[in-house]
Amino acid sequence: MSPKHSRSGAPITRRGFAKSAVTAIGLGPVLSGSKVPSAPGAKSEQERSNRRFDRSGASLGIALVGLGNYSANQLAPALQETQHVHLAGIVTGTPEKAVTWQERYPQVQGHVYDYENFDQIADDDAIDIVYVVLPNSMHAEFTIRAARAGKHVICEKPMAVSADEAREMITACESAGVHLSIGYRLHYEPHNVEAMRIGQEGVFGDPKYVQTSFGFRLGNPNQWRLRKSLAGGGALMDVGIYAVQAARYVTGEEPIRVTAQEVKTDPLKFAEVDETVTWQMTFPSGCIATCATSYAARMERLFFAGTSGWVEVRPAYIYGGIGGRTSSGPMDLPAVNQQARHMDAVGESIAAGTRLRIDGYEGLRDMVVLDAIYESIRTGGAVDLA
Ligand code: NAD
Repeated sequence: MSPKHSRSGAPITRRGFAKSAVTAIGLGPVLSGSKVPSAPGAKSEQERSNRRFDRSGASLGIALVGLGNYSANQLAPALQETQHVHLAGIVTGTPEKAVTWQERYPQVQGHVYDYENFDQIADDDAIDIVYVVLPNSMHAEFTIRAARAGKHVICEKPMAVSADEAREMITACESAGVHLSIGYRLHYEPHNVEAMRIGQEGVFGDPKYVQTSFGFRLGNPNQWRLRKSLAGGGALMDVGIYAVQAARYVTGEEPIRVTAQEVKTDPLKFAEVDETVTWQMTFPSGCIATCATSYAARMERLFFAGTSGWVEVRPAYIYGGIGGRTSSGPMDLPAVNQQARHMDAVGESIAAGTRLRIDGYEGLRDMVVLDAIYESIRTGGAVDLA
């Protein structure tokens, strides 16, 4: 069996990793673990902390920060289906959005903030969790401000624009005694969870080869995703991160070596960020992953093979319509609301005071790999991570 990690960094077995994945889609008991330590400090902080953790059984209030496409079309609708969390507030820089959201979701009235007065959220008892859904380079600032306000945080992927930033976010949340989760919804999607189980349990023998890609054609040339100052990077940061995640979660291992190459077919449009990137990751067991991401080519597939069989999930990473098969036959698994499952799992875990299945360290591990991919593109050589 190959070397493994847990999300806290402690080693676990491949089987243990898969068990927690099964737990994540509601097929097992709540993952038990140590309580997040309360922050030392002033009495008011302690009082806030008590209030935060005295919520067992209650549905926790979420404030969405940034009311763009993902908040409006995925997260807010998903929050109509959740049991352990509910939409309780909004943070927006656009007054018109504040009006329309309050009309659509009257429960947020009285819990509306903008980016300047955001810190006042500290005194809002209706908000337990701040969900950061802003352009990537704003994730660190709002995660840190939310932690300082004494709120738990869910931050969208990519967690940050560098591993150093991700570490600062983890430190801020740990110092404040709040939980931090990353929006990795696929840990609650049955095909991906089954792929994790098959890979990590070695159902077809240990994975020897992974091939995965995620790309789409990016339209509007004026969007923040093309500005390095807001996006941090291009296709790799936006959707290539899913391929990094998948290679890690089907092997249950951390890459020890990365090589990468970049191609631009439209250097004008992609003057600031990467358009198409291919990369290779070597894992301690000897498994090799070959991956691709693009803002030009449409692709979405997760394939891996062990000594006695293979798994293909295609499409693998979208919100719905995911399908798959293995060398033994089709995967007959249900479609679920991934966002609702993820947010519910976070709420349930926080209420129970247990360690989150997807925490900041999980986001950090991907950021370390993304940094290495960019470094390999820059230097033209291999980057060792071991
Ligand atoms: P979007 O452009 O639709 O929304 C961005 C929001 O940020 C808008 O409300 C915008 O007004 C606000 N904003 C604040 N300051 C801004 C600035 N300086 N420039 C531009 N916008 C600014 O983007 P989105 O698709 O909702 O993505 C938001 C985040 O969610 C990103 O980090 C993205 O990676 C992530 N996301 C995750 C998933 C997923 O499946 N987990 C899917 C889509 C997006």
